[in-house]
Amino acid sequence: MSHNMNIINEIKEAKLIGRGGAGFPTALKWEMVKKAGGRLKYVISNASEGELGLHKDLFILKKYPEMVFKGMVLAMDYLGTKEAYFNFNRKYYLLTKLKIKRFIKKYKKLGYNFHVYEEHPSYIGGEETALLNAIEGKKVQPRIKPPYPATHGLFGKPTIINNIETFYNVARVNDGVFKNNRFYSFIENGKHKGVYHFPDDWTLWEVMEKAKKIPKFKFFVQVGGSASGAVLNMSQLKTKKMTGAGSIEIYPATTTPRQILTKWFKFYAEESCGKCTPCREGTYQLYELIKKRGAIKWKEIMEIVNVMEKTSFCGLGYSIGVPVKSYLKNVLKKKI
Ligand code: SF4
Repeated sequence: MSHNMNIINEIKEAKLIGRGGAGFPTALKWEMVKKAGGRLKYVISNASEGELGLHKDLFILKKYPEMVFKGMVLAMDYLGTKEAYFNFNRKYYLLTKLKIKRFIKKYKKLGYNFHVYEEHPSYIGGEETALLNAIEGKKVQPRIKPPYPATHGLFGKPTIINNIETFYNVARVNDGVFKNNRFYSFIENGKHKGVYHFPDDWTLWEVMEKAKKIPKFKFFVQVGGSASGAVLNMSQLKTKKMTGAGSIEIYPATTTPRQILTKWFKFYAEESCGKCTPCREGTYQLYELIKKRGAIKWKEIMEIVNVMEKTSFCGLGYSIGVPVKSYLKNVLKKKI
């Protein structure tokens, strides 16, 4: 197997960014890990997708597992390590393990050690420091940052953690076929409805049109994750582009505020890991508030959302303002 010693420059030229949602430059992350001291380093691919609506990683794992392995091996060669972990959403592993095991066996013969960690599907399990804790057998909660995984990652060693799509893209860069595309996954009526690979810089309208997903009825969408993603109205689609982890959920305009808030707050309440008070208490209170009959208590809801945004320990808690505030502004056109 030939090593590509120039891969870091090729990734830089391709301007590759992570596809797990945060959009961090891939080359920068890899270089930080390379520069960190010590001989033992790790590569982890993250196929957690614990947020509502996301399903492009499963699509990639089913269709292009060889590309994911190839991208991981390129990272391992770059670091000079033979150790890698797959962090798998357990459901995904069940659906793909025959193929995955075949690749693990193949690479074992070449001296690469791939380990599989089967994660109980959860939002927080995909947060990179929480997944390090999970693999190490500790409580699945995020760690204080810094230090970052680039210097103090798995078992305290420098670690590259990238999403499945990022490794897929690294392999495409290596093969000279990377074209700045990304995966877009659709959700309609709460169900997964297809994954498409289109240019990164298309507007959401172009993406939906090309995928033949423009509904005949009035609608609004939530993009980048169906819990923490922003909500946009129809007229915004012609100028806005994808952010986050690539999903587009289509909601009929007849969806009521109670329906959508209940969906979000139930998810947040169930997924809060309980480590910090604003999120643990806030998510519980929000879900209790929306379950009560009568008019929606917007003022109380917004007070909790504002506190959670400012004081939560990690992205699960502080992201809650994104869907709620964008829905109020772009769909309900309401100021609270
Ligand atoms: S914000 Fe929520 S999920 Fe994050 S650490 Fe606090 S309780 Fe856990």
